[in-house]
Amino acid sequence: MKTKLIFLGPPGAGKGTYASRVAPKLGVPQISTGDLFRENMAKDTELGRKAKEYVNAGKLVPDEIVVDMVRDRLSEDDATNGYILDGFPRTLTQAEALDSIAEIEAVINLVVPDSVIIERLSSRIQCKSCAAVFNLKTMPPQEEGKCDKCGGELYQREDDTPAVIQKRLDAYKAQTAPLIEYYKARGVIANIHNDKADAPVDGIVARIMAALE
Ligand code: ADP
Ligand code: ZN
Repeated sequence: MKTKLIFLGPPGAGKGTYASRVAPKLGVPQISTGDLFRENMAKDTELGRKAKEYVNAGKLVPDEIVVDMVRDRLSEDDATNGYILDGFPRTLTQAEALDSIAEIEAVINLVVPDSVIIERLSSRIQCKSCAAVFNLKTMPPQEEGKCDKCGGELYQREDDTPAVIQKRLDAYKAQTAPLIEYYKARGVIANIHNDKADAPVDGIVARIMAALE
């Protein structure tokens, strides 16, 4: 089973949702750069203050900052046997930097049309405490406004507004989509198509697990 993984795809493709289901099955941590930034922003750390203006505008945080953060995270004990990088790398510079830190075994590329992304992101909500993701239309929490996993408060991300969603999609197309070719050339990419806003999560998770065998 492959365990050193990247989950690639546009914002709203479900990287975080699927990574959070697949990671415990493999016994590896899910490392989400977006969640790490939001955590640091909430705690108002130096890193959080540096990232905030970019994140809230839907722009990519500068490569140096992201690469340093990921290098630190990958050096922790729980990442020895594998990890799911969720939201990293997002530029060619980041991918090249990653090559000198880690040996990636598989890249799960989530292929999702723009119309589905916009529909999904506008109804997405997230837990303030544990970062679990829900969707008001397709994956509602059992109790309104409350996280199923930890009871934390659910909120809508500041960058999940239509104008910022468009900015993030533009950033994806210009800066991140070229990574598909980069990893395809290496023969490590598996495309997982997901054309429907309400595709059952379990089915996609099963397809991802099969691709990792
Ligand atoms: P999504 O994939 O839904 O856009 P993320 O939570 O992965 O959301 O990322 C949110 C924001 O965090 C991005 O719009 C960007 O500002 C920042 N970010 C996350 N990962 C990276 C990265 N690898 N490089 C640069 N910026 C990043
Ligand atoms: Zn929670």
